[in-house]
Amino acid sequence: MGDDAMTETTAGPGSGTAAVQASEGTEAERSGVDGPVSAAVEPAGGASGEPCCALCGVAIPTGAERLVNRHVVCASCAEQVLKELRQTAPTTAELLRAALGGLVGACLGAGIWAAIAVAMDSEIGYVAVLVGFLAGMGVKLAARDKRGGALPHLAVAMAVFGLVLAKYLIFAHYLALAVREETGVEIGYLSRASVDLFPSMIAKMLSAFDLLWVFLAVSAAWRVPAAPAVRVGP
Ligand SMILES: [Zn+2]
Repeated sequence: MGDDAMTETTAGPGSGTAAVQASEGTEAERSGVDGPVSAAVEPAGGASGEPCCALCGVAIPTGAERLVNRHVVCASCAEQVLKELRQTAPTTAELLRAALGGLVGACLGAGIWAAIAVAMDSEIGYVAVLVGFLAGMGVKLAARDKRGGALPHLAVAMAVFGLVLAKYLIFAHYLALAVREETGVEIGYLSRASVDLFPSMIAKMLSAFDLLWVFLAVSAAWRVPAAPAVRVGP
């Protein structure tokens, strides 16, 4: 990381004046240190004027300062943070478990959305955000303490699946209702007719307004299992 990263992420409001290099950080409002380094908020001020590590409090020799977001830390604490960040990346087995968790969340969300739509006889767009959130939560809970890596992508894929599933359930419900009224024949939710007709129907079921909810649902899914925004400077 170059010098610009150094200057961009230095002093923010609330940091100890002696602990930070005086420069106006354009990213001073970045979210604070989170997750594995949540203890890193104590402002530090060395009596000698030397900067102190925001994590362990030890005085840092000039030139050895490292940055974690906007906090000045010592070299060994910076290495520790990097190590902890690496440990949050999920393994393949954990990804599979997370996919299953996301699937469960997405199906739960889709069931809730479809049930509300049928009960109220109208689709409530913002329930889509719940589908995305539950897909993300399923991924996050199944991944336990792992964050980031492929997990947010997985959550988005599961959210999209949940949204399509919800649309399908609503469509299949009303198709079955219509067929019963017309012919008296009962068709299930997985009838040949529902499955065959759904692909051509989904485009007609989507409005521009729906796309906004889809976007919000996908964003919600992405954020839940994302890694904390931690940047370690030089
Ligand atoms: Zn330290």
